[in-house]
Amino acid sequence: MSDNNSKDVDVLVIGGGNAALCAALMAREAGTSVLLLEAAPSDRRGGNSSHTRNLRCMHDAPQDVLTEAYPEEEFWQDLLKVTGGNTNEQLARLAIRESSKCRSWMRRHGVHFQPSLSGTLQLSRTNAFFMGGGKALVNAYYRSAEALGVEIRYKSPVDRMEVVDGTFQAAWVGGQRITAKACVMAAGGFESNREWLREAWGQNADGEWPADNFAIRGTRFNQGVLLKAMQGAGADFIGDPSQSHCVAIDARAPLYDGGICTRIDCVSLGIVVNKFAQRFYDEGEDFWPKRYAIWGRLVAQQPGQVGYSIIDAKAVGRFMPPVFPGAKANTLEELAGLLGLDADAFVRTVGDYNAGCRVGTFDHTALDDCHTEDVTPAKTHWALPLDTAPFYAYPLKPGITFTYLGLKVNEHAAVHFAGKPSDNLFVAGEMMAGNVLGKGYTAGVGMTIGTVFGRIAGTQAAQAALKQGAQHAGA
Ligand SMILES: Cc1cc2nc3c(=O)[nH]c(=O)nc-3n(C[C@H](O)[C@H](O)[C@H](O)COP(=O)(O)OP(=O)(O)OC[C@H]3O[C@@H](n4cnc5c(N)ncnc54)[C@H](O)[C@@H]3O)c2cc1C
Repeated sequence: MSDNNSKDVDVLVIGGGNAALCAALMAREAGTSVLLLEAAPSDRRGGNSSHTRNLRCMHDAPQDVLTEAYPEEEFWQDLLKVTGGNTNEQLARLAIRESSKCRSWMRRHGVHFQPSLSGTLQLSRTNAFFMGGGKALVNAYYRSAEALGVEIRYKSPVDRMEVVDGTFQAAWVGGQRITAKACVMAAGGFESNREWLREAWGQNADGEWPADNFAIRGTRFNQGVLLKAMQGAGADFIGDPSQSHCVAIDARAPLYDGGICTRIDCVSLGIVVNKFAQRFYDEGEDFWPKRYAIWGRLVAQQPGQVGYSIIDAKAVGRFMPPVFPGAKANTLEELAGLLGLDADAFVRTVGDYNAGCRVGTFDHTALDDCHTEDVTPAKTHWALPLDTAPFYAYPLKPGITFTYLGLKVNEHAAVHFAGKPSDNLFVAGEMMAGNVLGKGYTAGVGMTIGTVFGRIAGTQAAQAALKQGAQHAGA
């Protein structure tokens, strides 16, 4: 039943990225009517998911595009390490196990995979790459959803939610009230909301507002409207608003949608200094895929929220070159001048680092034995002296990918109110990723969480709707 100001469906899905589409497809396949509301216009659809390239998958033996094996325990240990234990083991293991089963379903909906290319983040064993990237993935899902009869509305940002005693009643888009028997929220984090980021990060000891200097790597549409609405409705939350996937990106990146080409992947091949030409963290702590997401936060903690990734000629060809060329100079003094750094301090920092390098057998594909001694902070792997001109520098700033503050869920992706799971309100993707990712990140796990919990949320929402339909029919 619908008129201009109201609409009623079985399952309402709010959001238009990977998690929402997985939920919508599953709910539709389960036989319910589904309406998907995407805030963006059709040409900007797909949220952050349209920027992605791969998902991390457990597998016990080589599988089509995935080499060797990546067993559950190893995946779990990787997650445990990057989150520092700030994860829910039951939900994390659920995501890990389900990641081994979802790709045949994805293929049925038109997603194609390809092996990782050389120059990607050493991921051929752990991550399945989408042919054509995330944009092709979301386009395939939209095509499939349309073919299956999912109703899709663009330019439809939900601005209000009606939830009574933990039960979803309706969502509002402008003046229209949309009722549904069950609802899946998959509207991303609040990373695009600069005011909220400012509030979450606060002011530092120097009086700066670090978040003012962040770029948002993905969509501008993830404003956290539903998260705020859920705070108002009394839902249970998990996570710290200042925790996020935050990468050190090219400081010249645009405010929104810079995507992966603004990433700077040479940090582990050289050193990183702040605006006072001082190093501040071990650049060789671990493989870059496991560490790249902590560098945004590290740069955010530096004065002015800037850093400079410095390499020499030996590193060229060993990493994916960023889209903007780096500053290039034949001497360290000249490079400092190009960056506006104090030349004496810069030369001293590089000199100290070079003197501390204990070069063994350089191997960027292993945690090699090239390290520093008597330098603070230490560089524990891949430490080669910066001694071969030309020297290059890339300016860095924090690039926020997605926030981790989210809704607490159980294994059915149900939103909780005072510890009790809702009967008809579910959540997936970035809006609940904090259950698995309390902090840190390992490449590809965002799409794993979105795909697994999107599918669960869609299935559960359909079941909830069918149950209500059956009750109505019998009443
Ligand atoms: C540059 C970049 C590269 C990345 N690469 C990878 C990768 O290779 N692998 C990986 O695993 N992860 C990657 N990620 C992270 C990944 O994008 C996310 O983890 C994942 O896409 C989250 O999916 P989602 O559906 O929850 O959110 P999104 O894909 O962001 O979708 C949220 C949707 O909700 C809509 N929306 C927001 N508010 C409302 C509202 N009020 N009403 C209606 N709709 C609304 C948005 O328009 C959007 O369509 C990357 C992210 C970025 C930015």
